[in-house]
Amino acid sequence: MFSCWLSRLCRGLSTPTGRVTHLIQGSLSRRLMLSSQRRIPELSSFVARTNTCGELRSSHLGQEVTLCGWIQYRRQNIFLVLRDFHGLVQVVIPQDESAASVKKILCEAPMESVVQVSGTVISRPPGQENPKMPTGEIEIKVKSAQLLNTCKKLPFEIKDFVKKTEALRLQYRYLDLRSFQMQYNLRLRSRMVMKMREYLCNLHGFVDIETPTLFKRTPGGAKEFVIPSREPGKFYCLPQSPQQFKQLLMVGGLDRYFQVARCYRDEGSRPDRQPEFTQIDIEMSFVDQIGIRSLIEGLLQYSWPSDKDPVVVPFPSMTFAEALASYGTDKPDTRFGMKIVDISDVFRNTKVGFLQDALSKPQGTVKAICISEGTKYLKRKDIESLRKLAADHFNQEVLPVFPKANRNWNSPVAKSIMEEQRSELIRLMEIQEDGVVLLTAGEHRKACSVLGKLRLECADLLEARGLVLRDPALFSFLWVVDFPLFLPKEENPGELESAHHPFTAPHPSDIHLLHTEPKQVRSQHYDLVLNGNEIGGGSIRIHDAELQRYILATLLKEDVKLLSHLLQALDFGAPPHGGIALGLDRLICLVTGAPSIRDVIAFPKSFRGHDLMSNAPDSLPPEELKPYHIQVSWPADSEAEKSSLNQPYHPES
Ligand code: ASP
Repeated sequence: MFSCWLSRLCRGLSTPTGRVTHLIQGSLSRRLMLSSQRRIPELSSFVARTNTCGELRSSHLGQEVTLCGWIQYRRQNIFLVLRDFHGLVQVVIPQDESAASVKKILCEAPMESVVQVSGTVISRPPGQENPKMPTGEIEIKVKSAQLLNTCKKLPFEIKDFVKKTEALRLQYRYLDLRSFQMQYNLRLRSRMVMKMREYLCNLHGFVDIETPTLFKRTPGGAKEFVIPSREPGKFYCLPQSPQQFKQLLMVGGLDRYFQVARCYRDEGSRPDRQPEFTQIDIEMSFVDQIGIRSLIEGLLQYSWPSDKDPVVVPFPSMTFAEALASYGTDKPDTRFGMKIVDISDVFRNTKVGFLQDALSKPQGTVKAICISEGTKYLKRKDIESLRKLAADHFNQEVLPVFPKANRNWNSPVAKSIMEEQRSELIRLMEIQEDGVVLLTAGEHRKACSVLGKLRLECADLLEARGLVLRDPALFSFLWVVDFPLFLPKEENPGELESAHHPFTAPHPSDIHLLHTEPKQVRSQHYDLVLNGNEIGGGSIRIHDAELQRYILATLLKEDVKLLSHLLQALDFGAPPHGGIALGLDRLICLVTGAPSIRDVIAFPKSFRGHDLMSNAPDSLPPEELKPYHIQVSWPADSEAEKSSLNQPYHPES
């Protein structure tokens, strides 16, 4: 099983990445070609080994080598398999009397002990080669061995195929990191980031600038982590992104900025979120949307791993309105169809009560998706669970209709749908034999959202039953553009909030609506979507202080004093500018096919935001809080927590 990861790992380490170069055109191609002929890294410089375990082949036969690694397997006290980050190699334990001390070390050291062995690379006897192992043609005839450190009984075996809970993996992360899968993920991440730096700094003159992580509360956007200071009542905040700093760098004439930036959002955990995460943060002066989009397309193409299908540019784009209408979301997964269709006209004269009701309202619509081969792959209980999901999470009624199925599928509205409505539905939605239609009615955005969610649920269900809808090797990039500048606030729909952030410029053709119909204003905000996941977002910024002040104070009702430094800077000759941030964790997660972003972060937080290895966040005794002028106000039921201050740590399970 590990051989597959292993060969990917080896390929990634030693293959020059020449293949991307022919895809990038223009005057840069020569420079790109030169820089992409990457030298094979020297993996054993400065250290107590001559070679890595994974690199030895028949071409090394007869060489005297010294290897360092962990004991992965031992067979009948004759063979030992040694592992390092690069791979596995078989070591022959000497059996003759004269080498008794070497044999003792290699036979007695527990699994996962660290040893150094020296010996000769020999070929395996005929018939004993292992074609599944990259080093399977050779073995090491050991002359000397040294036990560098022993290993106690482990909480789990260091073998990728051994199943372990995520909590246990996170508690012993340093052991989990020894797996080939984690090694592959983190090394691929490192290589991609290196290529991104190369592309941005060496090929396009970007400047890598660090910005503060101790900052202050900023209006709008995500909830920030608060850091106490020694001044009474004064707090820093951890920045949710370097947004203000990167704009201020443009005012400072730094022109092309980038940073591998750590960002912090106190938003609770979700499967694809972490309280701290990394962005490839970019800002440029004198740029428009197309410029930023081309930069990112080139960046991804250049840094894309050589063992994946190459990235094809330019990426397609779709307006927010189209994404919502056809996919029910602002991050459509365009790898499969099943698009939402507006079928309001089919049902104008319907007798079905809830459709009639919906259509009688000014914003009322009837919408549907068609699940091809639905009657073949879905069970009645699947349809029921989809309807329940719509009812529970969206308060929306969804009806199944089986326009062509001969089977006795009962649709609650079957009898009320007239023949011509049925044939119009079949025509409009291109329904084939076995197609199931899921139909809902209501206001446009709500009807689309529920069907967008059901579309994804259906795809999961169909794939669980063996239908391949989404090619796992396919990377489907999409730009979503023309977002609204403002959305109604979730907690108070009468007020507005920024759809992206308050520094986003309005669409030039909608500026006149800012004073009269702000809800109708589109923005210069763009999101990058990959396989249905938002992996980046940015905008052209407001560089006019007056406009920025008006949006903050009048439309968003924010306290502009908090942003006086930025407003002042805009007044001192701020150049037009724009930028973007790519979510690195999510990007790498999708590239590696990892189940969670935690699998591409060396030391991630648990689902509840804890570090299960070190037990952060941790309590502090009151005397250590004193300099910060803060006191813990313990919730009534937290006696146990208080008394756990000095208790040994038990990780969450
Ligand atoms: N700062 C923004 C974010 O973190 C990205 C940008 O607009 O450049 O989403």
